[in-house]
Amino acid sequence: MSKPTKPRILFIFPRWPNRTLWGHFKYKFPALGLLTIAAITPPEYDIELVDENCEPVPMDSDADIIAFSVMTPLAHRAYALGDHFRARGKTVVMGGVHVSCEPEEALGHCDSVIIGEGETAWLAWLEDYAAGTLKKRYCTEGFSTLEAIPPARRDLLKKKNYITSGTIQLTRGCPHDCEYCTVTAFFGRRFRMRPLEAFVREYQQLEDRFIFIVDDNIMSNRKAAMELFASLRGTPKWWGSQAPITVGDDDEALRAMAACGCKSLFIGFESLDPDNLAKMGKKFVEVDKNIERIQRIQSHGIGIQGSFIVGYDFDTPAVFDQMYTFIDQARLEAFLVSVLTPFPGIRVTKRLEAEGRILTRDWSKYDMNTVVYRPVGFTPDELQEGYYALNKALYSLRSIVRRSVNFKKNMAIFVPQNMGFRAAWKSLLREKQRDERA
Ligand code: SF4
Repeated sequence: MSKPTKPRILFIFPRWPNRTLWGHFKYKFPALGLLTIAAITPPEYDIELVDENCEPVPMDSDADIIAFSVMTPLAHRAYALGDHFRARGKTVVMGGVHVSCEPEEALGHCDSVIIGEGETAWLAWLEDYAAGTLKKRYCTEGFSTLEAIPPARRDLLKKKNYITSGTIQLTRGCPHDCEYCTVTAFFGRRFRMRPLEAFVREYQQLEDRFIFIVDDNIMSNRKAAMELFASLRGTPKWWGSQAPITVGDDDEALRAMAACGCKSLFIGFESLDPDNLAKMGKKFVEVDKNIERIQRIQSHGIGIQGSFIVGYDFDTPAVFDQMYTFIDQARLEAFLVSVLTPFPGIRVTKRLEAEGRILTRDWSKYDMNTVVYRPVGFTPDELQEGYYALNKALYSLRSIVRRSVNFKKNMAIFVPQNMGFRAAWKSLLREKQRDERA
C-alpha cells in the first residue's frame, strides 16, 4: 500500500514590479517572515519556498496550498498569482503588512487572509484547513510574545541567490511612533524580545560571515541590547542592524557593539529640517548634533547607512542640494533616500487622505521611489525629477570615492552596497528614458 502523501505548501514571495529600484538591485536579502512561518509549520506538511525575485514561480505547481507574504508594492503581483492558482483549484492564503491593512481587497484574490503577526493565526489556519473548515479571516489577537519562535527555515533558500542568507530577528516593536513608519502600526510600540539564549544559538549556527539583525531598533531597550552585545562577544562574525542616531551619544554601547562585530548601522535621519522632524514625530533627531553623533559612531569602526525621506511638507526644491551636501560632508558610507510613501494603515496616510492629497492607489507605484501624493513645496514632477537627479549625483563615482574614506574597515559591506545601488539606479533611469522616448 502506498504511503499517504502529505499536503504540500508552496510559500511565495512575489517579485518587485518592473521599473522599480529594488527590482533592479542585484543583491537580495531573503524574506525572513516567510522563513519563520515555514519554521513553525508542523511536519505533517511538505514545504517549498520560491522567492520570485530570484527564480520563476512554478505556475503548474502541484502544491495544495499557496501562501503569500505581501508587501504593498508587490500586491498586484501577489494578486495576479493568487488568481492564477485559485483558477487551478489551489487553496490560496495571504498575509503580511499590506494584507493586514487591506484585507477586503486581498480577499478578492485568495481564500483566506491572515491579519497581524502570522505566527499564531497560521497554526489556527492550518488546523481549519485540515478539518475542512476554513474561514476567510484569521486575526492575531494582540502581539506574539516571541517566546516560541524556532530558528528560521534557511534550508529552504537557494543561498547562492542572496548576498547573505543570515537575516535574523531578536526583538519587535519600537517605542517611537513616527508618522510615516509602518513598524508601530504593524508591530506595536511595546518592546518584545525572543529568549536571548535561543537567539544566540541561532546566530552562532548561521553560516554567513555577515549577519543582518532585522530589528527595527536594536536599542529599543538599552539593557536588553547590552546583554545581547555581551552574549555575542567572541563570535567571529560581523553584523549590522538598525538604531536611532541617539546611539551616537552612548560611547559605552558603541564600544560594546564594536567589540562583538557590529560593522554597520542603518540610521533614520529622515530630514534635515527641524519642522519636518517635528511633523514626523521624530524630535529625537537633532539636526545640529548629527555630524558629531555620526563621527562618534564611525570612530568605533561602525559604518552608517543613512535613511532619508524627501517630499515632507516643509521641503522645497532646495532639499536636494542640502541633502547631497550633508551626505557628502558627513562621509556617510551608504544611504537610502526615499520619496515619502503613504502606505496603507499609517498615520501620515490618514493625514494626506484627509487633505485630499493622495494621487493614486496603484500599489505598484508605492515603491518608495515614485511620487504618489501631492507634495506642498513642489509639483509632483519637480519632486520626482529632483529625486532622480539627487540619487544620480550621490551614486556618481565621484561621490562614492569621496565617501569611501570610511570604507577601509568595512569594504566588504559598503563597496557592494554602493556599487549595487549605482548599477540599479543607472539601469532604472535608462529604462525610464527608453519609456519616455517610446
Ligand atoms: S522610524 Fe524607526 S524610530 Fe520611528 S517608529 Fe519606525 S522604527 Fe521606530
